[in-house]
Amino acid sequence: MAEAELLCIGGYSDNDRAALDRDFAPRWLGGVDEIEGLPKADRDVIRAIAFKGHGTLGANQMDALPNLGLIANYGVGYDAIDVAAASERDIKVTNTPDVLNDDVADLAVAMLLAQSRRIVQGSDWVRSGTWAKQGEMALNRKVSGGRAGIVGLGRIGREIADRLAAFKMQIHYHSRSEKDVPDGWVYHADPVSLASAVDYLVVALVGGPETMGYVNAEAISALGPDGVIVNISRGTTIDEAAMLDALENGRLRGAALDVFLNEPDIDKRFMALDNVLLQPHQGSGTVETRAAMGQLQRDNIANFLAGRELVTPVN
Ligand code: NAP
Repeated sequence: MAEAELLCIGGYSDNDRAALDRDFAPRWLGGVDEIEGLPKADRDVIRAIAFKGHGTLGANQMDALPNLGLIANYGVGYDAIDVAAASERDIKVTNTPDVLNDDVADLAVAMLLAQSRRIVQGSDWVRSGTWAKQGEMALNRKVSGGRAGIVGLGRIGREIADRLAAFKMQIHYHSRSEKDVPDGWVYHADPVSLASAVDYLVVALVGGPETMGYVNAEAISALGPDGVIVNISRGTTIDEAAMLDALENGRLRGAALDVFLNEPDIDKRFMALDNVLLQPHQGSGTVETRAAMGQLQRDNIANFLAGRELVTPVN
């Protein structure tokens, strides 16, 4: 049998793993740090990597694979890959956009509702028997009709805004340029102006160095003590320390977070906060969407190996 041309890195579902085995007979690695330890003859034949985000895939790993032509990322966010280094080496990068928009937007809206309506605490109130012993739980906060601000009106941000509009919310947004949006949606040229105009700030930016701390202490302060942050983007896009300080000191009403710095070993201060809804980075985590993401990753790999056009190139 020919040596494997594809290197698979990351924790795949059984279905995705079986499909990759069936289609490409690849070589499997536990993490990017194992690449440089492979025998040279094995590294020389690798033409593509199927990457599912653990560790950072940078210039050193790329240089260890002289015939690498494609890094096919599983996921739309490719901030773990040094795309500039890939481009310099004529290595193409692909991702899995669009197929996950609905799920991530659904989760963002569910998190916003769950945080404000205290749905997790309500469930605990019933299960613990507190309802029967003490009666009604404390009142929570209304969502419909509120003011929502989307930071980053890209593919996912737009889906979130469309859903929140159906909750009769006033839609405000910030992007680097104005978008073609329904009448009445309000554009803000910077995130601080956006935060000062809304009750809910929903962050849907790309991650990576360019958006590091994009929602900064000033924006958090502008959102104010009645404001709620929802983050489904990356932990890096918010000044997490400033957000934790504000949450602990009543300078923010709450937060609903699917992403954090240093996942999954997140800052322990989050655990003590009753005004924060925590999710384990599961925005795209449905059976249906993960299957579609796996298929799109494999389509990109198959096209590359056959010399056809890539389906969803990044660079
Ligand atoms: P997208 O369509 O490319 O939208 C990204 C948004 O980020 C756009 O609004 C864009 O601004 C903004 N942006 C990009 N570079 C920027 C920069 N340098 N400065 C300021 N803003 C910048 O991406 P998408 O498909 O909606 O995905 C967005 C992100 O969601 C992904 O990158 C990923 O990190 C995250 N995500 C999370 C999950 C999860 O499980 N929680 C799942 C999927 C995706 P413009 O509008 O000005 O272009």
